[in-house]
Amino acid sequence: MGALSIQGIHKTYNETTHILKGIDLEIEAGEFLILVGPSGCGKSTLLSMIAGLDHPTEGRILIGDRDVTHLPSKDRDIAMVFQSYALYPNMTVAQNIAFGLEIRKVPKAEREAAVQRVAAMLQIGHLLDRKPGQLSGGQRQRVAMGRALARDPKLFLFDEPLSNLDAKLRVEMRAEIKQLHQRTKTTTVYVTHDQVEAMTLGDRIAVMKDGWVQQFGTPAEIYNRPANRFVAEFIGSPAMNMVSVRRQDGGVSAHGLALALNDVQRQAVQAHGSDELVYGLRPESLAFATQGLPGTLSMIEPTGPETYATVDTPAGKLTARVPGVLDAQVGEAVHLQWDADQAHLFDQHSGKRVN
Ligand code: ADP
Repeated sequence: MGALSIQGIHKTYNETTHILKGIDLEIEAGEFLILVGPSGCGKSTLLSMIAGLDHPTEGRILIGDRDVTHLPSKDRDIAMVFQSYALYPNMTVAQNIAFGLEIRKVPKAEREAAVQRVAAMLQIGHLLDRKPGQLSGGQRQRVAMGRALARDPKLFLFDEPLSNLDAKLRVEMRAEIKQLHQRTKTTTVYVTHDQVEAMTLGDRIAVMKDGWVQQFGTPAEIYNRPANRFVAEFIGSPAMNMVSVRRQDGGVSAHGLALALNDVQRQAVQAHGSDELVYGLRPESLAFATQGLPGTLSMIEPTGPETYATVDTPAGKLTARVPGVLDAQVGEAVHLQWDADQAHLFDQHSGKRVN
């Protein structure tokens, strides 16, 4: 049995603003689901409906085998961690963690045991007597997670929990959330606009845009076989290079220049209903070589372990991602090579994957 079932969810405001346009997702027990997409795509709205803070205009939500669509939040056996930690400033850390249990009338000894359990898990035992005002941002975030974990809920919901933290702490907390999930295996729904968080944390990822799920799959499926141009460009940094091409002589070409295809891609292009396509290449698929697509180096961005190099070619600007330091100068003539198997093909108009 699935842990969470989202069936045909629509959300309309004022009968005219259609925010969610039919969302269907089936989540297995213990799974870590990511909802990712640009700001305004509807991910927080969807999470609010799973949480019971808002209700769908159409559709059903099941937690386990229970239809919770119209149940209030408190009857859903869920725990939430928000971007704003929403800790009670006048309570100690221990009281904050125990508060949800107290209002559920859990006996004192059990509450204290839960506080000790999550404090050990999150390494905040030494902070239990402090007030939130005496904590750093990362510590507050831990307490907010502790409060959610104390309950051992059916479902854990996170709404951009790391976005208020600085870059270094964000990476640390991300790792902690991952380890925590590996230990507790609580089914989790996690909202983020950050594609790295999505890739590193998710068992499966739902990529959203304009109130639709564009693709639902494992991080590897989403990265290696993006279903459309939007997903291809949204996931991965630097973004996938996109070259507009036309069908020509059984293959594809950009400004008359034929681009490499393997047999499967060639067949897909021939069977496709339109002449106008987009040829996508991830930056790491490109390599510098002594021959291949000619161009001029127009920008070099070293990051330390690798370098991003932008090359102006007859097919357009392409960014290559190469290991280490690139021993070259801006303005230099270069050649780029890639393996056709690494190419992605999309329809120019619908954006849908062709190969
Ligand atoms: P995300 O979390 O992906 O950034 P949201 O779910 O917060 O997006 O919002 C999706 C869209 O719904 C936005 O365009 C937002 O302005 C709109 N929206 C959210 N709440 C309301 C509301 N109560 N009334 C009208 N529009 C809303």
